[in-house]
Amino acid sequence: MEARRGEVKQTVQMVGGDGEYSYAANSLGQKKLIIMTKSMLENAIEQMFKTLLLKRITIVDLGCASGPNTLLVLSQVLDIISKLHEQSKEETLPEIQFILNDLPSNDFNSVFQSLEEFKKKIKEERENLLIPYYVAAVPGSFHERLFPSSTVHFFHSSTSLHWLSQVPKELEIRTQGISQSKGNISITRTSPPWIVKAYQEQFQRDFSIFLKSRFEELSVGGGAWLTFPGRDHVDGDSLSHLSELLADSLNAMAEEGIISKAKLDALYFPLYVPLLEEVKSIILGESSFHIEQAHLLSNNIELYIVQDGKKIANSFRAGIESFVAHHFGDAILDELFERFAEKISRSILEEKLTKCNTLNIVIVLKKNTPQ
Ligand code: SAH
Repeated sequence: MEARRGEVKQTVQMVGGDGEYSYAANSLGQKKLIIMTKSMLENAIEQMFKTLLLKRITIVDLGCASGPNTLLVLSQVLDIISKLHEQSKEETLPEIQFILNDLPSNDFNSVFQSLEEFKKKIKEERENLLIPYYVAAVPGSFHERLFPSSTVHFFHSSTSLHWLSQVPKELEIRTQGISQSKGNISITRTSPPWIVKAYQEQFQRDFSIFLKSRFEELSVGGGAWLTFPGRDHVDGDSLSHLSELLADSLNAMAEEGIISKAKLDALYFPLYVPLLEEVKSIILGESSFHIEQAHLLSNNIELYIVQDGKKIANSFRAGIESFVAHHFGDAILDELFERFAEKISRSILEEKLTKCNTLNIVIVLKKNTPQ
């Protein structure tokens, strides 16, 4: 399907199922982040749990996707709460309501289908884990309200909040078919300042609405754990180098007449990797949350560097394939990502990618109590 001119709102859709290009098969970096941050998450939940002294805890995972990471978060939460329960010496077991959220296009079916297996595994592996838990799903965008007021105790979200609700409208209006992004999926060293500003403002709008919505939905004493890609300097993020390689592949294909130059000109992604300071200042501006923790954490992608470029290309593909297909049609996908993979492999060989780290913002928020 072609993008109509003037239609800038595009939907995010990870590749579902468990095939070669699926998110499930290409989310090792995100998995590493979830595992790396488990003890920090434990501290955050402990703070909430201690003060809440709850018997029923409602926890929501925003942007849960489908694949091994979806239920990994649940299993970590169960470990953490069961440990905290043991320490508390309370007699009554808390009950957990775990709610999965993602966009309606997410492959919820495969998540539901894997639940029985997950429950069996949890029972076998953790004989002591008796905490009752109930899993439900709420499809919808976290850029709007998802739950009734004061019904959630804790929000969790990993590697999702860098997805904007839409491509900034200004880009479509101002560029009028003249490429400014040159096929880049994120801000790079060469991005014109007004493009950077348009993305910053879109992020600001989206994140403010996100905070307002979560504030309403959280009960008193509730909180949130948010991790998502961030950057520590203004000119480009850790995706910049890879983004440029993808852009090179797209531009070469346009030069060779495989894709249309006009379409490439109109390609923008609804992605923004913010500075930690930007995020903090939006939270402070909203004054509805207290920042318990906010820092940048480096997730070293050395793991990928020893592999060939195809792994990285596939992990990008799992996230952006739907946009590319929406824009240029399915037929170009294999060729584009093969070219991209080759370029990454070359960069790895030439040691241009050895220092590429993904930085992640880790934020723990506590709902402010109205005076
Ligand atoms: N939390 C998982 C998935 C990260 S991929 C992990 O850490 O591995 C990002 C997910 O965010 C995708 O599944 C995507 O569909 C979802 N997403 C993006 N924008 C969203 C929105 N506005 N509302 C809900 N989910 C969204």
